[in-house]
Amino acid sequence: MSAPLLEVEGLSTTIGAARVVDGVRLELARGETFALLGESGCGKSMTALSLMRLLPPAGRIEAGAVRLDGVDLLRLSEAEMRRVRGARLAMIFQEPQTSLNPVMRIGAQIAEAVRLHAGAAAAAVDARVLELLRAVGIPDPERRAREYPHQLSGGMKQRVMIAMALAGDPELLIADEPTTALDVTIQAQVLGLLKTLQQRSGLAVLLITHDLGVVAETAERLAVMYAGEIVETATTAAFFAAPAHPYSRMLLESLPTADKRGARLAAIPGRVPPLDRAFTGCRFVERCPRALARCAEQLPPWHEAGAGHWVRCHLWDADLVDTATVAEPAV
Ligand code: SF4
Ligand code: MG
Repeated sequence: MSAPLLEVEGLSTTIGAARVVDGVRLELARGETFALLGESGCGKSMTALSLMRLLPPAGRIEAGAVRLDGVDLLRLSEAEMRRVRGARLAMIFQEPQTSLNPVMRIGAQIAEAVRLHAGAAAAAVDARVLELLRAVGIPDPERRAREYPHQLSGGMKQRVMIAMALAGDPELLIADEPTTALDVTIQAQVLGLLKTLQQRSGLAVLLITHDLGVVAETAERLAVMYAGEIVETATTAAFFAAPAHPYSRMLLESLPTADKRGARLAAIPGRVPPLDRAFTGCRFVERCPRALARCAEQLPPWHEAGAGHWVRCHLWDADLVDTATVAEPAV
């Protein structure tokens, strides 16, 4: 990969006593779609909010670097960060209805976003609003611009959110469960739209999701997050062909083979451990059917399972690797 657009290193975030993001490392290339995959509560949304520096009041970034084009966003002043948000990286959320102002016309809301980033003259703003509505595939944009959010379907509202996020022409779009609230057909349309926008403008997308079907269809690479940590990272193709972490395998095996779309990751027994305690070993040990004696006491090391395919699990320790057991699909 040439110089990455985004480099996240050793990112750790706490919410009160809970370390919700712990030592996260990620790299995104320009124009790439990278999925951050995990159950709810695993820290993926907090990772996204840390990148935006938009944590809830009790949230604190304790350590790490978030370099966008080589500039560490964690070292910028709040005023500098405000100029980066929207203009260089933007974020869309799961529930467009909570992010849109119900008593303001769609066009006026997008115009506000355009003015914030471009400071353009009034006539240019109106033209840009219509251009953005067209770019996100909203038919009859002149009429839609005059409507209120409640007059739009869920899919149309999500398109409006994407239009607002694109107002500042960002290089990176963080999409947190952008299609979860939508039905399957509309989901596919919104994901298709993101792909088109990427091909047109070289936009990179960090897709936060618990939906393996969405990952399979849209992402080039992915990382699996568990209890605040990344436990596996791979190309999407390598991951679906041979998931290396026991957690990843369980996620894939818990799904029906024909149609993984919409399947929820919570299908495996047990739950993510509380994050307000210290961990001495593997965080997955209580749910892992293959746990070894050492797993509760020793942090699992990273192991390269293939080209660009990394896994954090004791089963891959050099002295233990037995390809026959590790490659066998049943966990
Ligand atoms: Fe399971 Fe041990 Fe690997 Fe953790 S380190 S996933 S407990 S085998
Ligand atoms: Mg979330």
